[in-house]
Amino acid sequence: MAKNKDKVRRFDKFIIGIKNTLTKLRGKKFPPQNILLLFSHCLQKSKCKNKITDELDNCKRCGACVVGSLLDLRDSTGIQCAIATGGRLAKDRAMSEDVKAIVAIACEQELSEGIMATFSKTVIAIPNQRPCGPCKDCNVELDCVVKAVNKLTK
Ligand code: SF4
Repeated sequence: MAKNKDKVRRFDKFIIGIKNTLTKLRGKKFPPQNILLLFSHCLQKSKCKNKITDELDNCKRCGACVVGSLLDLRDSTGIQCAIATGGRLAKDRAMSEDVKAIVAIACEQELSEGIMATFSKTVIAIPNQRPCGPCKDCNVELDCVVKAVNKLTK
């Protein structure tokens, strides 16, 4: 079983690596309003009571998790931003006409599934950090997100 899990993880990493390399080689740039920053719900502090799944701007940007900084990035660049609460919803948002490129933050498995479901789109996939284990109080290096957004922006 452990062997199978390991295989899946290597496959997911492979898909992420291929997609990120293709995006880099193509070097396409997009207006900020056509770039979607899509992140998984597990980035929100688990103790936070603000319902950001209903409305992202319910976040008070208190600094206890990275969500506030991602919203600051959205506001300073003019990109779109969305939280992924389920595979289908995330895919629908990513496939909308006005989204041409995506910076996605999630675990490797969700990223590789997302990449395969949105194959025609330009994607930079950033694996989250999981200091508390999967799906809870995850984090991401803000620098990597900023660099990814800058790389895609016209
Ligand atoms: S930055 Fe603060 S208010 Fe915003 S989601 Fe994180 S813990 Fe909640």
